[in-house]
Amino acid sequence: MAETMYDMAIIGGGPGGYTTAIRAGQYGLKVALIEREKKLGGTCLHWGCIPTKSLLFDAEVYDHLKNATEHGIEGVGQVTINWKTILDRKNGIITKHVKGLDFLMRKNKVTTIEGYGKLTGAAKEGIHSISVETASGEKKVVQAKNVVIATGSDARLLPGVESDANRILTNMEILALPRIPKSMVVIGAGAVGVEFGSIFKSFGSEITIVEYLPRLVPNEDEDVSKELSRVFRKRGIDTYTGAKVDKVEKTNDGVKVTFTGTDGKQVAKEAETVLVAVGRAPRTANLGLEATKVEVDRGFIRVDEWMQTGEPGVFAIGDVVAGLPQLAHVAAMAGMVVAAKVAGKRARPVRRDRIPACTYCEPQIGSVGLTEAQAKAAGHEVKVGKFPFSANSKASIVGSHEGFVKVVADAKHGELLGVHIIGPQATEMIAEAVVALELEATIEELMFTIHAHPTLAEAMLDGFGSVENMAINV
Ligand SMILES: Cc1cc2nc3c(=O)[nH]c(=O)nc-3n(C[C@H](O)[C@H](O)[C@H](O)COP(=O)(O)OP(=O)(O)OC[C@H]3O[C@@H](n4cnc5c(N)ncnc54)[C@H](O)[C@@H]3O)c2cc1C
Repeated sequence: MAETMYDMAIIGGGPGGYTTAIRAGQYGLKVALIEREKKLGGTCLHWGCIPTKSLLFDAEVYDHLKNATEHGIEGVGQVTINWKTILDRKNGIITKHVKGLDFLMRKNKVTTIEGYGKLTGAAKEGIHSISVETASGEKKVVQAKNVVIATGSDARLLPGVESDANRILTNMEILALPRIPKSMVVIGAGAVGVEFGSIFKSFGSEITIVEYLPRLVPNEDEDVSKELSRVFRKRGIDTYTGAKVDKVEKTNDGVKVTFTGTDGKQVAKEAETVLVAVGRAPRTANLGLEATKVEVDRGFIRVDEWMQTGEPGVFAIGDVVAGLPQLAHVAAMAGMVVAAKVAGKRARPVRRDRIPACTYCEPQIGSVGLTEAQAKAAGHEVKVGKFPFSANSKASIVGSHEGFVKVVADAKHGELLGVHIIGPQATEMIAEAVVALELEATIEELMFTIHAHPTLAEAMLDGFGSVENMAINV
C-alpha cells in the first residue's frame, strides 16, 4: 500500500502534464506528476516548440543582417554563423525553462516523481495504482483517485528507415547536429518539415521538400498552401508534392532519397542529410491500458469532450488523444479542462474549430476555424475576403510583403467561420481571430473594431472588410 493518496496522478511531464499539475495544484488538489526523464518539459521544451523557435529567431537575425545595407546599415561586413553558439543559446533557453517548471511545481505543491509510470490495472474501489520504475530499477506504487495520461508522442519513421546522429534525422537529432549540413532532403511538408526546411534554408543549406499529399501544409486552406509553395520556390527551396518516397539509403558521404511523382517518374535526390518529418506516433504502448477499459484507436486514446477515457477516473490529454491536433497549446488546455472537472469547477470542452494552428516557417502561417473548403462542405453559404500584405504599410516598413489574410464567413448571417494568415507575424496575429471566433463575432462587428495604425494587425481589419468588398487599402 502506497503511503500517500493523491487526488490526481499525471503520467508525463510535457506541456499537457505540467499544465494539468499546476492548475490542479491551484485548485488545491493533491497532485503527483510522474516523468521518466530527469527534466520536465517533454517534446515541446526539449525537442519541439522551444528549441525550433530559438533556431528560427537566430535564422531571422541572420537574414536581417545579410540585408543590412537595404536598411542603410553599412559596415556589417561578411556575416558568418557560429553554429555552436546557436546551439548553446538554444540549450540555455531550455535550461532556464526547466528550472522555471521546477519552481512552478514547488510553488503549486506538486510532487514530482521520476520514473516510468504504468497503470497496474483497473481501479479498485475507485483507487488507481500506478507502478513507477526509475532508470536504475527502483520501483514504487503511486495511488490516486484520478489519473491523467499525458505521455506524448515520438517521431514516426518510414518502414525500414532508422535515424542516426547526423545523416537520417528526426526532430531530435537535427537539434544537435555537429554542423549546418550543405544539403538536406525533408520528407514531409507538415509543420515540422516546412519549419526545419525554412530554418536551414536561411542558414544556407540546399533544401528539397518531398510531400506525399498534393500540397505543402496539407491541413491549411488551399490558398495558403499555394502561397507557401510560391514563396518557397522564390526562396530557392525545391518542393515535390504528390511524391511517394520509395527508398532512403545511406551513401558514402550522405543519403539518397528515391521517390515517385504523380507522373509515375522516379526521382533520386542525394544530400548530406535527410529529415524524416512524417508525423508523430502516440506513446500508449506499455502503459498497462489493456487491463483497463481505456479504448485505443490505432494507438491513440479515445476520450469524450471532457477528456475522460472509457475507464472511470482515467483521463487522457495531449498528443496521445485521438482526433485532436498534436499541439502544445491543445495539450495544455485539455489539461486545464481535466483539472477543472476533477476539482468540480466550471469548465468548457476544447472545441476543435477554435484551435489556432501556427507554422513557424518564413513566411509564417497562422490559422483558426474552417477553411473555405471545410465551410462549404459543412453546408455554409460562404463569403470569402482576402487582403494582401503588399497593401499594408507596416509590412512595407518591416520589408515583408508576401502573403495575405483570408477570412471565411457565413454569407447569411455574416458570422466569422475561419481566418487563414500567411505572412509577417501571422503566428501572433492569429490570436485576434481566435478571440473573435470564441466570442462569435460577425464581420460587421469586426469591420467596426478599431485597429491601430500603422500595424500588421490592420491587415486583419482590411481582411474583414474584404469579405464585403470594402477593404480600405486595395
Ligand atoms: C519539431 C517540433 C516542433 C513543434 N513545434 C510546436 C509549436 O511551435 N507549437 C505547438 O503548439 N506544438 C509544437 N509541437 C508539438 C508539441 O511539441 C506537442 O504537441 C506537445 O509537446 C505535446 O505535449 P504532451 O504533453 O502531450 O507530450 P510531450 O511533450 O511529448 O510530453 C510527454 C512526456 O511524457 C513523458 N513520458 C512518456 N511516457 C512516460 C511514462 N510511461 N512514464 C513517465 N513519463 C512518460 C515523456 O518523457 C515526456 O516528457 C512541435 C513538435 C515538434 C516535434
